[in-house]
Amino acid sequence: MNSGIRFDSVTVAYDGNVVLDALDLTVEPGEVMALLGPSGSGKTTALRAVAGFVRPVSGRVFLGGRDVTDLPPYRRGVGMVVQQYALFPHMRVEENVAFGLKAQKVAKGEIRGRVAQALDMTGMAAYARRHPRELSGGQQQRVAIARALAIRPGVLLLDEPLSALDARLRSGMLAELARLHRELPDVSILYVTHDQVEALTLADRIAVMDSARLRAYGTPRELYRSPSDEFTASFVGNANLLPVTVGEEGVFFGGRRIKVSGQAPGAADTLCVRPHLVGLGDGPNQLEGRVSEVQWRGATHRLYVDVDGHRVMADVRELKDPPSHGDAVTLHFAPDDAVLLAAGGSHD
Ligand code: ADP
Repeated sequence: MNSGIRFDSVTVAYDGNVVLDALDLTVEPGEVMALLGPSGSGKTTALRAVAGFVRPVSGRVFLGGRDVTDLPPYRRGVGMVVQQYALFPHMRVEENVAFGLKAQKVAKGEIRGRVAQALDMTGMAAYARRHPRELSGGQQQRVAIARALAIRPGVLLLDEPLSALDARLRSGMLAELARLHRELPDVSILYVTHDQVEALTLADRIAVMDSARLRAYGTPRELYRSPSDEFTASFVGNANLLPVTVGEEGVFFGGRRIKVSGQAPGAADTLCVRPHLVGLGDGPNQLEGRVSEVQWRGATHRLYVDVDGHRVMADVRELKDPPSHGDAVTLHFAPDDAVLLAAGGSHD
């Protein structure tokens, strides 16, 4: 079946409003690509363009190297799972899973086996005779995934598949999706989410969307360790973003000279340091400030420290004797752990 997805300058507009602006993106065969971004940034629209539910005003969509832009959804060989399960309430689980196969006119004898296999893969074999209303939210979502897998798609589209579940179920399902991905090494998965943890956990690569545009893409580690712009830095993980001046004499934050490893982009004006890489006490790149807030988070303390009117967050290992509001503290970070970001990076 088809595998691999390519967006070639895909633009989608509703009533003349461009909601997806010339998207160029390739999902390799067998790759999980997360589309990560705030609500309204165009993620679902991109997914729907692959499924064939919206038609681009320009650009082409390719599946497995084949231009499918003009094909109807049922001829594209993609499986899709949306947030709200969308099971047929009057049909039993097995009928729901068989639905796509019947539509594809798969032989009756084969349907039975494929349904059983899809239910097996999602751990729902024991529930085949139930109706959706007799299942929990997590179980319903498993059935929806089984239904998508039954057609043996080359491409699986997942649109916020976990956001209707509570936090505990979500992390369990996340592990299951990772397992399914291992069991289906040839299936390309496009995974829409606004949740950075889901994207970091599951994706081989992340595409960050912002206002109808692709802002950045790369492996989770690349985007986390060396984000290209402020938007990406703050959307993929927490970030301290400090205003700096960069010149021949070096990098300065307030009057302090800051040591940063690595190259500065053209006109850098922002320094990004992850809160967990900021330490308490003396060290390289020292910052003196006053504690404005302390949050105990179990394994860590999150300190908010006011440094010359700028808020710096530090996530430090749980302290026996944490500082209090108003205390003077010293923070530091290693030159290797800071990244310079280009000026105006968030809205170019
Ligand atoms: P996301 O998935 O990132 O939340 P969407 O792709 O759903 O974003 O939506 C992008 C923009 O397109 C939003 O401003 C949304 O209101 C608009 N939009 C989505 N679907 C339609 C539609 N059927 N008609 C008009 N506008 C739409």
